[in-house]
Amino acid sequence: MGILDKLFGGDENPSTAPQFSHVKIHPQVDNGVTPAQPGFAGGTLRCKCASAPVVVKVGAQTAHNHVCGCTKCWKPDGAIFSQVAVVARDQLSVTENADKLEIVDASAAIQRHACKGCGVHMYGRIENTGHPFHGLDFVHTELSSDGGWSPAEFAAFVSSIIESGVAPARMDDIRGRLRELGLEPYDCLSPPLMDAIATHVAQQSGALT
Ligand SMILES: [Zn+2]
Ligand SMILES: [Zn+2]
Repeated sequence: MGILDKLFGGDENPSTAPQFSHVKIHPQVDNGVTPAQPGFAGGTLRCKCASAPVVVKVGAQTAHNHVCGCTKCWKPDGAIFSQVAVVARDQLSVTENADKLEIVDASAAIQRHACKGCGVHMYGRIENTGHPFHGLDFVHTELSSDGGWSPAEFAAFVSSIIESGVAPARMDDIRGRLRELGLEPYDCLSPPLMDAIATHVAQQSGALT
């Protein structure tokens, strides 16, 4: 069914019923997005190793959680999006088996620290102090059994899932499902984060004082 049929076709699909629930995005959002728990103040992330897992302590609630379609973020098996949030880097510490971590790509802006045993990315860190997001670490809160983390709010880098092999013909359904879930799809970051990057650039250049 084409997009015009979806907009102007018959009424066999009442507008209130989900039309794209067969489209899987990520296990953390496929059944709906769970709200944050008021007062939640962090928890523990564990990698997927059956023994001697890497354990990371996050000492605060996360922010800007979103699903991401880029090819760099770690995704669970079968998911076409990752889910990733940020937290202040001074709130993150590796408490067990730090020796199992290695940096996936030391030349990348975000240095993703992955477990050598299971491949899970435990946190991403920006070491360039001039980067707009310096001071924030990127984490996957699905690695925590603690409930209450901030939920995904939007979808970033949606078009990039094609780079991972998703057929372009599926994009209407995927964007449709994201909107049904309340995760507005963007092909870069969300407007507030793009504005934050541009503000940082303008302050560094002197265009904004
Ligand atoms: Zn592991
Ligand atoms: Zn990503």
